[in-house]
Amino acid sequence: MIDIILPVYFDYSSTTPVDPRVLEKILPYFYCKFGNSSSRNHFFGWQAEYFIEISRKNISFFLNCDSREIIFTSGATESNNIAIKGLSFFYKNKISKILSLKIEHKSIINSLNYLIEYGYNIIYLDVKFNGLLDLSLLKLFYKNIILMSVMYINNEIGVFQNIVFLSLFCKKNKIIFHVDAVQALGRVKIDLNLIEIDILTISCHKIYGPKGIGAIYIRRKSNLYFIPLIHGGDQEKKIRSGTLCTPLIVGMGEIFFLLKKEMFFENLKIKNYRNIFLTELLKIDSIYINGDLKYRSYHNLNISFNFIEGESIIISLNQIALSTGSACASKSLEPSYVIKNLNKNYNIIHSSLRFTFGRFNNLNDFYYLLNTLFINIIYLRNISPIYAI
Ligand code: PMP
Repeated sequence: MIDIILPVYFDYSSTTPVDPRVLEKILPYFYCKFGNSSSRNHFFGWQAEYFIEISRKNISFFLNCDSREIIFTSGATESNNIAIKGLSFFYKNKISKILSLKIEHKSIINSLNYLIEYGYNIIYLDVKFNGLLDLSLLKLFYKNIILMSVMYINNEIGVFQNIVFLSLFCKKNKIIFHVDAVQALGRVKIDLNLIEIDILTISCHKIYGPKGIGAIYIRRKSNLYFIPLIHGGDQEKKIRSGTLCTPLIVGMGEIFFLLKKEMFFENLKIKNYRNIFLTELLKIDSIYINGDLKYRSYHNLNISFNFIEGESIIISLNQIALSTGSACASKSLEPSYVIKNLNKNYNIIHSSLRFTFGRFNNLNDFYYLLNTLFINIIYLRNISPIYAI
C-alpha cells in the first residue's frame, strides 16, 4: 500500500497552501498586534509600522533592492494594473506605443486592451512555437516604444524569456521595462541589482504565502511616476492608498525570508521528481510537450494528449487537481489562448493539460498521477472517435 493523501494537488501555479510556519507567525497580528500602521500617535500604530518595514526589508533583501522600492498591493493583478495603466496615464503625452507578448497573463492583456480605448497603440509580439520570444522581432518594432511588459516565467507553459537580454535592450533604447515575475519567484534567482528591471510585479499566494497580498517594485533610479488607481490616505508613496494589512504583509515578509534559505533545495527536489515523471510519461504515445523543454521551470509541464479533449482527462482524473490553463481562464471552456498562440494544430490545442508541482508533492503523488494517467488515457483514447490505432 503506498502512502498517499487524496486528492493530490498538481496546480501549484494557480495557488499554493500557506506554509504552516507563516500561518503561525501571522496570527498575533490579527488580535494583539492589530494596530493601523498609519496611526502615528500610539504604540499600536508604531508596532504595526515596525513589522511592516521588517517585511519590506525581507522582500528587498531577497530581490537585492532597496526596501523603499517595494510598494504593497493586493496582489499581482493590481500590481500589473498599476504598472500598465498607472504609468501610461501619468505619461500620457509621452507613452503612446507599448510592446508586450501575446502570451502574457490576462491582467496584462486586459489592462493593455483597456488602454487601446484611450488611444494607446499596443503591439503584441508573437512567440515562437516553443513559447520563446524571437528576439530578432524587437528590431522591427522597438521604435517609439516607451514601455515594454514581459512575463518572466509563463504561468501556463513555464518557459522563461531572456529577461537579461531584454533588460539590456530596454536600457539601451530608453524603454521602461516591466516584468511580471509572479511565476518566477522562488524558481529562479532574481537579483535586481544585476538585472535592470524598472518595474517588477510579485504576488504572495504562489509561494506559500496568503492570498490578497502582493507588491510592485519600482526602481528608484528610474524616477517613475504613476497615476494612482485607488485614491485615499496616500499610503505607499501615494501609489496605493488603503490601510495596510499587517498580518498579510508580515506573512509575505516571512515567506521571502524562508524562500531565500530554502528555494535551492526545494527546486532540486522538484527537478528530480519532474524528471522521473517526464521519463515515465513519455512512454505514452502521441503526447506533445507545449513550450520549450530547456528554457523552462522544472515546476511546470504542459502536455497535450492527442486525440482526447483536455477537459475529459480532467474529469476522468477526479482525485487529481490540475488544470487546462490558468485558473483565471478555467471558467471558460475555450482552449487556452497561450497554447493557441504556439500551435495551430486542433488536437494539440484542445488536449493540453498543465501540471504544476510544488513543495508538498512527494514521489508517491507522482506515481499515483502516472498510474491514473496511463489508465485513463488508454480508456479515453479507446472510446475517442478520432483515435485510430
Ligand atoms: N501574473 C501571473 C503570471 C500569474 O500567474 C497570476 C496568477 N494567476 C497573476 C499575474 C495574478 O496574480 P494575483 O492572483 O496575485 O492577482
